[in-house]
Amino acid sequence: MNIVVCVKHVPDATADRKFESDNTVDRVGVDGLLSELDEYAVEQALQLAEKNEGSEVTALCIGPAGAADAVRKALQMGADKGVHIVDDAIAGSDALATSLVLAEAIKKIGSPDIVITGMASTDAGTSLVPAALAERLGLPQVTFASVVETQGDQIRAKRDGDAATEVIGATLPVVLSVTDQTGEPRYPSFKGIMAAKKKPLDTWSLGDLGVDAGQVGLSVAWTQVEDTAARPPRTAGEIVKDEDGSGAKALADFLASKKFI
Ligand SMILES: Cc1cc2nc3c(=O)[nH]c(=O)nc-3n(C[C@H](O)[C@H](O)[C@H](O)COP(=O)(O)OP(=O)(O)OC[C@H]3O[C@@H](n4cnc5c(N)ncnc54)[C@H](O)[C@@H]3O)c2cc1C
Repeated sequence: MNIVVCVKHVPDATADRKFESDNTVDRVGVDGLLSELDEYAVEQALQLAEKNEGSEVTALCIGPAGAADAVRKALQMGADKGVHIVDDAIAGSDALATSLVLAEAIKKIGSPDIVITGMASTDAGTSLVPAALAERLGLPQVTFASVVETQGDQIRAKRDGDAATEVIGATLPVVLSVTDQTGEPRYPSFKGIMAAKKKPLDTWSLGDLGVDAGQVGLSVAWTQVEDTAARPPRTAGEIVKDEDGSGAKALADFLASKKFI
């Protein structure tokens, strides 16, 4: 089975994340890491590969130079090879342009049986890329899967909704997005970290993909972040001391005042 897993490099949520003057995210001056939700996508890819002998897992990432770390993390977890798309023209791209570059990279990698993504990135979190990617590749999409099984060229996935759990079936190849309910991502072992150093990690530009730079980047984005404001600092909150048994009523009044009950 030929599996491609898309991994995004995002600013570390514990770091002091900043926006550039053009309201794009500062992805260079801030520490970044593999998007946490994409660790579940890598884990799912590895589990499918382990169940299908002879499989190959390729980790694919678009991002500035530092984003190669996200690919390396996927290689340390167990992916077989990595592809990093880096090109200044991509900066500020919207989800549509991101899906274009991913689709062309996947075509260059060669016809995958499954393209796996996370359910959303942990910075912008639009969840737009999986569907746009499926459209560009002309593949069915199975999204927000919490359980995934394959049998020959068939895939079955469970998707937990508020009111019901759906079981979705499709014929491979597909684009699959997985939730954080698909199983705890493995930690890279020392052996895995050492082995990753020898695994192939290709770096491609837009030119290598035959993508015209005029199709990507902030200037052609269909959506732009017009303004940003720091979130107000968290307030200490209200402390209710239950010294005379009135604590429960005070709590109920507080919840009612916030219309939680
Ligand atoms: C604050 C903010 C708001 C934004 N709002 C919008 C908006 O409303 N509309 C819009 O079109 N763009 C928006 N963008 C731009 C958007 O973030 C980028 O285009 C991004 O590359 C793709 O969208 P996403 O992060 O929302 O991905 P999602 O669709 O949430 O990601 C789903 C999955 O796609 C894969 N994926 C996503 N990006 C990459 C990548 N670079 N490399 C490899 N795999 C990837 C991962 O597997 C990920 O789990 C915004 C960016 C920021 C920072």
